[in-house]
Amino acid sequence: MNLILLGAPGAGKGTQAELLIEKLSIPAISTGNMLREAMSNGSELGKQVKTYMDGGLLVPDELVLGIVAERVAQPDCSKGFILDGVPRTLAQAEVLDAKGVRIDHVVSIEIDDDVIEGRMTGRRVCGKCGCSYHIDANPSKTEGICDQCGGELVIRKDDAPETVRRRLEVYHESTEVLKDYYAKSGKLRIVSGDQSIEGCHRDILEAIGAEV
Ligand code: ADP
Ligand code: ADP
Ligand code: ZN
Repeated sequence: MNLILLGAPGAGKGTQAELLIEKLSIPAISTGNMLREAMSNGSELGKQVKTYMDGGLLVPDELVLGIVAERVAQPDCSKGFILDGVPRTLAQAEVLDAKGVRIDHVVSIEIDDDVIEGRMTGRRVCGKCGCSYHIDANPSKTEGICDQCGGELVIRKDDAPETVRRRLEVYHESTEVLKDYYAKSGKLRIVSGDQSIEGCHRDILEAIGAEV
C-alpha cells in the first residue's frame, strides 16, 4: 500500500502518519523531518535548505526529490510506504510518476486556514525523531519529552504565526493543485482534518479500504 498524505501545514499529516505506521506496519517518509535532520546534522543539504525552510518557502524540487527517490528504493519500503509532505508541487508529482513510483491512494486531510494557527502555536516536535505533539490536543506523557524516543520537544522556528501564514499561502498556490492532479487518476480521497485525531484516523482507514 503506497500512500500520499496531502494537506495544509498543521492539517495533521505527521500525526496521522504515526498512527498509520503502527496500523499498517509500513514506514513513513517525511521530507520535512528529513530536511530538519539534515539541518541539525549540519550537512551540505542542510545548509542549502535552511533559508527556504526558515522562511516558510518550498525547498527546490531537485533537492527534495533526490532524498525521496533514494528512500523509497530501500528494502523496508517494498511492502508500502506513506509519503508525508511530498509531493508538494506538480513538478514533484510528475517526477515521481516518471520514476515509476506507484501510488495507490492520495489522502487529502482538509481543514480551514483559521483553525491552523492555534494548532501551530501549540505544536511541539521531537528534536530527535520528529514526532509531533500538541500542548492541549495531544500532549506527551512527560512534559517536554518525546514518548517515542525520550528526545527533547522543541518549537519549530517556522511555526511562528507570520511564517505559518506564508506557508499557508504557499500551500494554496503550489500544493493544492495536486488534488486535481490525483483526482484525474481516481486516487484522491478526501477526509476531514477538523475532528479528533482518532476520528480522522478512522476516516483515513475507511478511505483507503483498510480494516478499521
Ligand atoms: P508541515 O507538515 O507543517 O507543512 P513540513 O515538515 O512538511 O511542514 O515542511 C516544513 C518545510 O520543509 C516546508 O515549509 C518546506 O520548506 C520544506 N519541505 C518539506 N517537504 C518539502 C517538499 N516536498 N518540497 C519542498 N519543500 C519541502
Ligand atoms: P502536519 O504534519 O500536517 O503539519 P501535525 O500532525 O504536525 O500536522 O499537526 C499539527 C499540530 O496539530 C500538532 O501540534 C498536532 O499535535 C496537532 N493536531 C494534529 N491533529 C489534530 C487534531 N485532529 N485535532 C487537534 N490537534 C491536532
Ligand atoms: Zn522522539
